[in-house]
Amino acid sequence: MKAPDIPVDEVHRMAALRSTGALFSPSEERFDRITRLTSQLLGVPMAVISLVADQTQWHKSFTGPVTAEIPRRISFCAHAILSSKAFVVEDARLDPRFADNPLVTGEPFIRFYAGYPLEMPDGSRVGTLCVMDTQPRKLTRQQLQGLRDLAAIAESELQRGQLNASQRELIRERDELKLKASVDGLTRVWNRSAITELVAAEIARAKRGAPLCVAMVDVDHFKKVNDTYGHRTGDIVLVELAARIRRAAREFDAVGRYGGEEFIIVLSNCNLETAKAVCERIRRFVEDDPFAAPTGELRVTVSIGLAALDAEHADLESLVGVADAALYKAKGNGRNQIAY
Ligand code: GH3
Ligand code: MG
Ligand code: MG
Repeated sequence: MKAPDIPVDEVHRMAALRSTGALFSPSEERFDRITRLTSQLLGVPMAVISLVADQTQWHKSFTGPVTAEIPRRISFCAHAILSSKAFVVEDARLDPRFADNPLVTGEPFIRFYAGYPLEMPDGSRVGTLCVMDTQPRKLTRQQLQGLRDLAAIAESELQRGQLNASQRELIRERDELKLKASVDGLTRVWNRSAITELVAAEIARAKRGAPLCVAMVDVDHFKKVNDTYGHRTGDIVLVELAARIRRAAREFDAVGRYGGEEFIIVLSNCNLETAKAVCERIRRFVEDDPFAAPTGELRVTVSIGLAALDAEHADLESLVGVADAALYKAKGNGRNQIAY
């Protein structure tokens, strides 16, 4: 196996990567839709937006049986970022650089790899958009062009930095370890302590005049899901639920896992009317399509409690308290609805 070389502009490259705010932060729908499209367009089981950090390669977004992080020294993408062209390995078992790579000889059993480097305006190559398969493959020229176009979209997204101010600040202030520990490992949204901090930070900002709402989302009869299909299926539902919430929310909104199957969305710069519309989208996105699990498809609904910041409810505890009380009301009124 050949370990990847370190680029000559490594220090500069890492600074460019950190400045995107995308490293070790929660999943974002704007990246997930690119990996979904890539995997569909090329008909491959795995597509990844990878970010190559000091020691590890971190997967900002992925479809298929891929883990969130791998060591840099066994990474294919760390080779791909060494040039500005596509990096293609048609059959890893026949390539001396990769034949005995643990990602080839073991899970996820990569045979085919193709990746385009993601380049920042200053020329730093911070990661890739790549596809992988467990079968050897050749891509047509058209497919390679499709991959390049999607990589260009991923590049623009990396430069766009679309999270709200509190999230950007939290990402900037935390070091790698602390940031990683702020993201829920299962659902890849902010964890309870981070989202609580973000609500407080947005309240402080909103006191300068902007409207703010907080929504609390809880799965209806989730115990029954666990009891009927098992805890593993319950977990899969939670992962998909978090993805649907991200898709339904506005892209700069903060989403966090507040408890087991309870999520909070911080709707900054948002009045009650708009917040209701966003929550209705969340409710509908959950109700409309079945959830896929190894045990078969199942249907799930959520109840949502909504609270708006006002003079009487202007601190963390009372704002979250109002959302919680509203959630209780939505449950009492028959579930699968929004209350405020
Ligand atoms: P309700 O409609 O009143 O909300 O009914 P419910 O059954 O959803 O009740 P409640 O919200 O109190 O139950 C939460 C359940 O979620 C309890 C627990 O078994 C399950 N749960 C909590 N965390 C996890 C998790 O991480 N994974 C799985 N699979 N289940 C979890
Ligand atoms: Mg609950
Ligand atoms: Mg529940």
